[in-house]
Amino acid sequence: MSKVIAWGALAWLALGQMAMAQSGEGCLAPDQLRDKDVRRHAAQLARDVCISEIEIAEHGVPWRFTVIENSKHQQGPTIFLLHDNENSAFDTALYAVRKYGGKLVALETGDSRDYQGQDPNRNFGATAQATAPCAQMRRKPAPIFTKFLTDLRGRRPGFVLTLHNNANGHTGNGGSGGISAARQSTVMKGLPAPGGGDEDDAILLAGTQPFEQNGAAQKLVAQLHKAQVNVIYEHVRPEGNDCSFSNYIVLNQLGDYYNIEAQHGHTGPQKRMLDILMGIERVKVRDRGVK
Ligand SMILES: [Zn+2]
Repeated sequence: MSKVIAWGALAWLALGQMAMAQSGEGCLAPDQLRDKDVRRHAAQLARDVCISEIEIAEHGVPWRFTVIENSKHQQGPTIFLLHDNENSAFDTALYAVRKYGGKLVALETGDSRDYQGQDPNRNFGATAQATAPCAQMRRKPAPIFTKFLTDLRGRRPGFVLTLHNNANGHTGNGGSGGISAARQSTVMKGLPAPGGGDEDDAILLAGTQPFEQNGAAQKLVAQLHKAQVNVIYEHVRPEGNDCSFSNYIVLNQLGDYYNIEAQHGHTGPQKRMLDILMGIERVKVRDRGVK
């Protein structure tokens, strides 16, 4: 019973968000937020967007989110920012909201990656059965957290977009990161593009089939390679579920999943990859003046 009430309240919240953005009522001024990412961009955020904060609680953990929506153009992608310490990802997402419309949803966890011992990107899963293999999920399952975020995804365009930043290189070549287009593992297949630049700047795709059997992914990789964008393909299997966002989206068939990854500080390359992906997905540019 309590679940039903919580989920109903969430749906109401999501509707309230849209009404707020349209009317401007209830939108917060940038200096009303503690979020350092918002304060960094206070001048840009003073107009044409609606800023709001939402808090949900699950297993006694209060998760706080900052939502920034384009006031004129609500129709557009939703960008998910799951790690609050990844500043280039936030800057790129704000650029996208102003240029393409839609909204960003950013976890506010005091500028650190984890919150109360939990990596937010290992906290997806609504049932005990689905989350059983997830060693990095501490309090299982998390239906409220999962439903809140997946309900905010855009219905049109029908893809799920997330942005991350990562550390330089990978542990196999003397670097410190885990994500790299130069790396091959049983789960992650690096597909570096000719002229694709830094191995840490790449678009990550995910699917339940091996890459060799996924014709749609192969076609997209060819387009991205032509545009000099590195790709990483994640082969997701239910038994290997790690309760990350990519695994949840793909295992539950909620749409195409894209994660634009860039090394910390690579805001320029991250914006370039985003523009290329939006072009391939035919997302309309709303404001060409946004740089
Ligand atoms: Zn991240």
